[in-house]
Amino acid sequence: MARIVEAIAVGTELLLGQIANTNGQLLAQVLAEHGALHFHQVVVGDNRARLVAALRQALDRADMVVTIGGLGPTQDDLTKEAVAEVFGCGLALHEPSWERILGRMRARGREPTPNNRRQAELPEGAQAIPNDHGTAPGVLLQAPYLPEAGRGAPLPRVVVCLPGPPNEFRPMVRGFVANYLERWAAGPEGRTVLFSRSLRVAGIGESETEHRITDLVGSDNPTVATYAKPGEVEVRVTARAPSPPEAEALLTPLEAELRRRLDPWVYGVDEDTLGTAVIRELAARGLTLAVAESCTGGLLSERLTDGAGASAAFLLGAVTYANHAKQRMLGVSEEQLRAHGAVSEPVAVAMARGVREAAGASLGVGITGIAGPDGGTAEKPVGTVFVALAAAEGAACRRLQLGGQRAVIRWRASQDALVGIRRYALLGAEALRA
Ligand code: ATP
Ligand code: MG
Repeated sequence: MARIVEAIAVGTELLLGQIANTNGQLLAQVLAEHGALHFHQVVVGDNRARLVAALRQALDRADMVVTIGGLGPTQDDLTKEAVAEVFGCGLALHEPSWERILGRMRARGREPTPNNRRQAELPEGAQAIPNDHGTAPGVLLQAPYLPEAGRGAPLPRVVVCLPGPPNEFRPMVRGFVANYLERWAAGPEGRTVLFSRSLRVAGIGESETEHRITDLVGSDNPTVATYAKPGEVEVRVTARAPSPPEAEALLTPLEAELRRRLDPWVYGVDEDTLGTAVIRELAARGLTLAVAESCTGGLLSERLTDGAGASAAFLLGAVTYANHAKQRMLGVSEEQLRAHGAVSEPVAVAMARGVREAAGASLGVGITGIAGPDGGTAEKPVGTVFVALAAAEGAACRRLQLGGQRAVIRWRASQDALVGIRRYALLGAEALRA
């Protein structure tokens, strides 16, 4: 059985939302890479009693506890004191660390304070973890821990304390902690690794996705889980095995089955983006694209060009915000604008046709809508968006009613357009009918 590691991020500024717990995220990634089990991650403020309680709870249920932050020289830096309290030991000066701190400070022309001396103290029996980018060394304590209320025998436990500043934390996690985990995380039965692949699904929603794969979601190794993202779904498959190739071998047949069930809506894996996938699929069929945007303000063009190689299919992106720009650049008629309004199906279709013609593209896209927060009416509330496609075979338009804030509405509108473009690339004229 792989070993269990719990992380405790210490800092009131984390609880106040002033900074994001990016250190916790990196640690979680390194734990997963090394096959450690990570069931809990806790955030606690700079408060000794609550930190002691969090440490006890973590040590009751995990083989290793990694603390993040609170190793600095000030009074609110309490991590080592709390660890010493939990293990019933004192703090002792670690001479080599003290020498290092003195050397560092003198090299900068500063005199150490008693608080700096505290940074060279370690819980008795602990080792220092070198910190090449800051003053405070990390702490490695391997010691028996007596569970709360003296229940049962002492348990072998490891505590690692790391400094909070990310430029100090990151190299220590990637270096010392990763090396330690390499030897230790697998537990007595030997090494296991976790290997994940995320299938990216757009064009069907989360419930439809789950419905198609529901009998596979309960499997144990590999596991399958779905996550809803704005306008798309991630299906993550994770296998556990002694080595990466063995994990991949477990994962491959399941991935193939998932792709078969979700066909044709899996547009990519892992870091793939829908914009680059769409370009790839257009280019593979020799199709070209031009888009005219209003409420998305260039977001669709941005997403189509965020990967290299967009020029293989993307010819033109126009942001036509004003009515007269839609008329002059795209040939939308005054009559259409007057009769139906700028946010309407006829105008979206005219935009798609106009930009297609202007660029000489196989496919044109027009987007017009009301992203809010103002500008909605009873007939066309905020979130009303028309997305039109125009091709040689004809044109089609979808009316969307999107929820959320302005940024979300814009994102979802661009997402819908990308899904529509992809459908055209895959299905041709059929995509203009549904
Ligand atoms: P210092 O010597 O700077 O006091 P420290 O080890 O005591 O270091 P903290 O005081 O907890 O660490 O945090 C120092 C700084 O590091 C914070 O102000 C914050 O910018 C950053 N930091 C702390 N914890 C985290 C975290 N979990 N994720 C990202 N950044 C963090
Ligand atoms: Mg501090």
